[in-house]
Amino acid sequence: MSARFDYLVTGGAGFIGSHLCEKLISTGKTVCVLDNLSTGHLSNLQSLLPLESFHFVQGSVLSADTVNDCVNMCSEVIHLAASVGVENVINKPVETIETNVNGTENILRAARLKNTKVLIASTSEVYGKSWEVPFQEDGDIVLGATSRNRWSYACSKALDEFLALAYSSSYNLPVVVCRFFNTVGPRQSGRYGMVLPRFINQALTQKPITVFGNGTQTRCFSLVSEVVDCALALLNAPEALGKVINIGSTDEITILELARRVREISGSDSEIVIVPYEEAYPEGFEDMQRRVPNVSRLVSLTGISPQADINTIINQIIESGIPEGAQ
Ligand code: UDP
Repeated sequence: MSARFDYLVTGGAGFIGSHLCEKLISTGKTVCVLDNLSTGHLSNLQSLLPLESFHFVQGSVLSADTVNDCVNMCSEVIHLAASVGVENVINKPVETIETNVNGTENILRAARLKNTKVLIASTSEVYGKSWEVPFQEDGDIVLGATSRNRWSYACSKALDEFLALAYSSSYNLPVVVCRFFNTVGPRQSGRYGMVLPRFINQALTQKPITVFGNGTQTRCFSLVSEVVDCALALLNAPEALGKVINIGSTDEITILELARRVREISGSDSEIVIVPYEEAYPEGFEDMQRRVPNVSRLVSLTGISPQADINTIINQIIESGIPEGAQ
């Protein structure tokens, strides 16, 4: 029996997942989403839910039966379902570790049954405190102590990567691992700690823009539509199989400068306030000072990488409006 859907997207009701589904459907593909709606929202899939080419399953990647059923219905799998955001990692550590590790294990086991191609979403968090900027996929990763809960997220995603690569080398399973860097764009909620939607929301509601630490820490922000294009290009690049690939922009900006840009572009009168880390985060949190991807592997495999500059990105998010529940 041939698969009913071209793609299974786990976590498809989330921010990146919903953009990915829209892209797939707009190019004529059929898509099944598996999402437990813990941080995702059906409203993200509003335009897709009525379509025949789209199917939504509410369920958890922690249920091996559900995962098997869904994987069986689809030709390829894009596994995005994970615990997201600093707040979840700090407040729900058991759930974070179990979802990230056992969920990915269920996906890989199910995919192995029919040798289904899988994209595993990982994160720049796995580089941890490494100072070897820009981060290269084969560079060392540097994580903090296990008593510091923050590192459980990075460690759980690193284990996902090990497992995916082991399925590739031991069972020849076609697997691509993508390390997503800070991805932003319309529909992203600031609720789980993400800085750019928070700043934009604060600016538009004339509240203080809260810069944590001294604001000299840097990030590179890439637009979700471009990130999705890169992920799909990697899934179609035979040379990407069995590899880990960074996806991100190389345009580095300090968080203080980001706050200034948001304020300026939105025409807000909000003041920019510095919030010491001790006040911003619970004890045991360590922030990353710089996070920049080396994208040469991505470019050599696909010919593309995220290009949108930060001003364009901020404008696009402001035009699209603040999502419900953003903070
Ligand atoms: N940050 C901030 N103000 C906020 C939220 C976050 O200054 O209201 C900082 C945070 O400390 C970090 C950076 O912005 O240095 C990016 O945080 P985010 O949680 O968006 O992503 P990540 O740390 O995972 O890159």
